[in-house]
Formats: sequence, C-alpha cells, structure tokens
Amino acid sequence: DARPTITLSDGRRIPQVGLGVWQTPDDGAVEAVRAALAAGYRHVDTAAIYSNERGVGEGLRASGVPREDVFVTTKLWNDDQGYDQALRAFDASLGRLGLDYVDLYLIHWPAPRRDLYVDSWRALIRLREEGRARSIGVSNFTADHLRRIVAETGVPPVLNQIELHPRFQQGALRAAGAKLGVATESWSPLGQGRLLADPAITAIAAKHGRTPAQVIVRWHVESGLIVIPKSVNPARIAENFDVFGFALDADDRAAIAGLDDPDGRIGPDPTTATF
Ligand code: NAD
Repeated sequence: DARPTITLSDGRRIPQVGLGVWQTPDDGAVEAVRAALAAGYRHVDTAAIYSNERGVGEGLRASGVPREDVFVTTKLWNDDQGYDQALRAFDASLGRLGLDYVDLYLIHWPAPRRDLYVDSWRALIRLREEGRARSIGVSNFTADHLRRIVAETGVPPVLNQIELHPRFQQGALRAAGAKLGVATESWSPLGQGRLLADPAITAIAAKHGRTPAQVIVRWHVESGLIVIPKSVNPARIAENFDVFGFALDADDRAAIAGLDDPDGRIGPDPTTATF
C-alpha cells in the first residue's frame, strides 16, 4: 500500500505518514505543504504555536488537492487551556487555516501545573460533537494523564502524539495507550535529524540501498506508529514519503531495538515542563 492508514478508535482513518511543519514560517509552510501533497502525502501536522497555520492553509489550497482528501491536524497551545479559552483558540486556528473543520485537534501539552487539561478536553469533546474537529486527541500526555481524562469524561483521545524515535522508543507509554484504544503518533521521529548518522542506521540504509531517513520512517510505519517527519526541502520531503518499496528484516529490527535508551529524550519532559 503506497498510502497506508491507521484506523482510529472513532472509526476514522489517519494517513500513517504526514508532514511536520514545526519551525517553518508561513512562506516556507506554503511551499513545504505543496511539495508534500505533490509527493503523495495527504496529512499535515501543525499547531497554533508554530505560527504557520495561515501558510499551511494556503499551501493546501494552492496544491489543488481536494480539502476532503487531506488530513489536517492542529493543536491547542498551553496559554489557551480551559473550556472557554479552548473554544476561542480553536475558532482562531480555523480562521488562520481558512478551513471550516480540522481532521484532528490535539491538546498540545498536559501542562499539569495549570491543571486545566480536563476542562480543555471537555471543550474538544464539544468541538467533535459539533463536527468542527472530526477527531480529537492529545499530545505529550503520560499514562496518568490519559487515564484521568478517560475517567473524568468517558471519552478516550484517538491518539497521543509523543516524542518517539529509535533512541526513545516509549514502550511503556505505547502499551498504556493501546490498553485504552489510544494510537501513538511519533514526534521528532528522526530525533530532529540527530539519528541520521547513527552507525546502526547507516548500516541498515546501505544494506537496502535506502537513506537513513527512509530507514527510520519505515521503522515507525512497521511499528504501527503514525509518523510526521519534518523537512522544508522538497527532495527530502519526497524521500521521507518514499518508504513503501522496501521492508526491514529481523536483523534490522533487532539493531534498532538496541538503540532504545531511557535517557534518549531530546525535548521537554511533560511532567516537569514549566510552560
Ligand atoms: P524530525 O525528527 O522530523 O527531524 C527534522 C529534521 O531532520 C529536519 O529539520 C532536517 O534537519 C532533518 N531531515 C529531515 N528529513 C531529512 C532527510 N531526508 N535527510 C536528511 N535530513 C533530514 O524533527 P521535528 O521537526 O522535531 O519533528 C517532526 C514534527 O513533529 C514537527 O515538525 C512537528 O509537526 C511535530 N512535533 C510535535 C511536538 C509536540 O509537542 N507535539 C514537538 C516537536 C515536534
């Protein structure tokens, strides 16, 4: 399958490989989204805090690909948590995107010190009922955060978008999510590029005649994860999507399993992050 999808707990399907656009200004986002849709992607991951929702919307319209064929995710920023604030922030995101619905709306971080993520989650439930967010989920939630919103609202998120790459494989959190029907989506899937020169990865790439980035994206796909590699370079954007013509073998998987490191986190720890 050249465009595999994962079926979410609400019955909707998300394309397994999407384009990440963090740290991409509006202009760059227009071009990156156009390049990605031309290369076959049908999934884009942005956030209010990335300040490029306008560019993403513009790229989408410029691509000529029908709106309903593209899966668009955006996220609620921490300063906008709370029931009413989240509803207002969502309207602002839709306005910047120039869309009348998003496919997926996520709470970007649990921000546990604010203790507003349950109220925010209730707002997302309402947005889903209104059909303006077709699916709703979370990002950077621990197993405890997931269990709390399910216990208090009865509504599980369709997915949890978390830092996940060969050096930080998140086995326990993936298993906790799976128990609740929560799919896992990998952010910084290439370790922000730092994993591309790892000797275990370059050896596998050489063996298959593929690039290190392709080996890592392929590993996420074969692991049942949703994956959103970021690039603004059209050739690399295309390369990162061209992962359906080869497969990893048991030796490759064992070598990548060996890279997992409990201290391999690159980004903030959601339980201690101060924002
Ligand atoms: P990534 O792991 O996708 O790495 C991106 C970097 O790798 C690029 O900037 C580039 O330097 C390099 N790269 C990409 N493709 C390459 C290729 N084919 N060859 C060589 N180098 C290549 O890092 P990321 O941007 O941190 O994560 C991806 C996406 O995840 C983001 O754009 C964003 O959408 C999402 N994200 C979400 C959160 C969150 O809190 N929810 C946090 C970080 C990132």
